[in-house]
Amino acid sequence: MSVRVRFAPSPTGHLHVGGARTALFNWLLARKAGGTLILRIEDTDRERSADAMTRDIIEAVEWMGLDWNEGPIRQSERLDRHRAVADALLESRHAYRCFCSPEELAQRRRAGSGTPDEWKYDRRCLSLSEDAIAARTAAGRPAAVRFHVPEGSVGFTDAVFGPIRKSGEELEDFVLVRSTGQPTYLLSVVADDLDMAVSHVVRGADHIANTPKQLLLYRALGRTPPVFAHVPLILGSDRTRLSKRHGAAAVLAYRDAGILPEALVNFLALLGWSDGTDREIFDRASLVDAFSLDGISRSNAVFDADKLSWFNGRYIHSLPPADLAVRVAPAMKSAGVWEDRFEGPDRDWLEQVLALIRPRFRSLDALAAEVETYAGERVEYEPAAIEKFFNDPRLADYLPALAERLNDLERFDLESTESALRTLAGELGVRAGLLINASRVALTGQSVAPGIFDVMVMLGRAKTVGRLRVSKVLLSSS
Ligand code: GLU
Repeated sequence: MSVRVRFAPSPTGHLHVGGARTALFNWLLARKAGGTLILRIEDTDRERSADAMTRDIIEAVEWMGLDWNEGPIRQSERLDRHRAVADALLESRHAYRCFCSPEELAQRRRAGSGTPDEWKYDRRCLSLSEDAIAARTAAGRPAAVRFHVPEGSVGFTDAVFGPIRKSGEELEDFVLVRSTGQPTYLLSVVADDLDMAVSHVVRGADHIANTPKQLLLYRALGRTPPVFAHVPLILGSDRTRLSKRHGAAAVLAYRDAGILPEALVNFLALLGWSDGTDREIFDRASLVDAFSLDGISRSNAVFDADKLSWFNGRYIHSLPPADLAVRVAPAMKSAGVWEDRFEGPDRDWLEQVLALIRPRFRSLDALAAEVETYAGERVEYEPAAIEKFFNDPRLADYLPALAERLNDLERFDLESTESALRTLAGELGVRAGLLINASRVALTGQSVAPGIFDVMVMLGRAKTVGRLRVSKVLLSSS
């Protein structure tokens, strides 16, 4: 059987982590099986759907690198096809016309025994004669189409949750087409999944309750249903359903906050799936390789924003520097630290700086901002660094002396800068550490930074010497 799966978002809001994970699992299943991923935009609810959200979802899916093979298909363009399926069900008497108005239904719901929520459609229109139907239709009374839920039960084996069974008595004769002519979600999804020959429906566990009803439609149409795999919910750290309160944001908001798509993909894959080991780092290819529906857990996954940031750090630290330079460029541009030379003569320099400074960073934004320490003209001194390493008055003479030694070097590289500093420390009779720590503050403004000689080389002679000279001012005023 060829694997054909679909990602079927409703464009009623931004693509959030839950939807993104559903998209990812479908993509992984398709790629693993050499199958087909269909992107279907379920925009039948015109009031709640927005074109801007469709664009947002597509942009987010593309950014995550989840390429699809068919679509995007707009469900709203297929409504006639959905109505034709309802007509076939009317024809085969699996469905019937219902003339009860919303007001009548509401009144009976209120009048029924039990709570209004327990009320199920009382099948008043099920036994209408052909003549009665014709008369009402001729009088222009609007009719919905309801599915006639048969007796007995309906069951399926969910690829994640195992056997699930529901008795017909628990189900209401649900609406397939509203009296306005609008097909319902239950009908549209089944009609589309059939027409698109979908083999596996992978979707959120919030849809489990819909599945028995959809299976009844497959049965009535005499068609084999797809395999269903419901993916458990994502919860916040307080074990309630994930929402913005938990710091969970739209996918594109993560992009804009400096998260790499590799990190988000790796993180989302492990929200509810594992390969059975405690392995955590999976690049895209190894995820495809390791993925299977069997690895999806039945228990709800807990969203941990710190873990996402940890994954982001791992990918920032391991990307080839040339790649990292491409990825960080947008963040540098929005932080205002981008210069055209980074695309030309100073490309190598930028890559080397990134490789040097990245170990401390978990976000592209913070990494981008730090490039300014090396590329810009100003140093931002951290007060704590000044307090800790600029507290020896002798430095007011030592740092300018170091500046002159470095200025006089024939070559300005790792070895020569190190040897100049150590020689000077020896001559002054002080620990090299005193000069190293103070230089770090003078050159970067920070108390923690990469190896000081790497810093000097990346800054270059002019900036290094200049910043060491200027530090005299700070030292004499501190
Ligand atoms: N459009 C539905 C949603 O966004 C998904 C329908 C389905 O996967 O069957 O929740």
